[in-house]
Amino acid sequence: MRPKRKTPYVARCSVCEDGLLRLFVCCECGTVVAICDECELIWQDLAAVSRDPDSPSDSAFPACPACEAPKAHWQKLTTEEIEREHLHVYLAEPNPRGDDR
Ligand SMILES: [Zn+2]
Ligand SMILES: [Zn+2]
Repeated sequence: MRPKRKTPYVARCSVCEDGLLRLFVCCECGTVVAICDECELIWQDLAAVSRDPDSPSDSAFPACPACEAPKAHWQKLTTEEIEREHLHVYLAEPNPRGDDR
């Protein structure tokens, strides 16, 4: 259903096996997490889940596992922000085209 987006992802979701884990930042505490775009589970440890997608999730959207806000606001990181924060090391496909805008 969902067309393959340009937005990079960390891993394929091991729970629903359909969604992709995208990078989001919590607007309350600024913590970057991976959220499945299908089942909306949240992984806080990016290194662990990128290495092992079977590692257990820490929370479920919209609760933030870091600041424990029950209804945190989340913002999807852009490719530029990911590069700037050096989070591309956790991505499954580190921007293969290398094209910007
Ligand atoms: Zn999922
Ligand atoms: Zn938070």
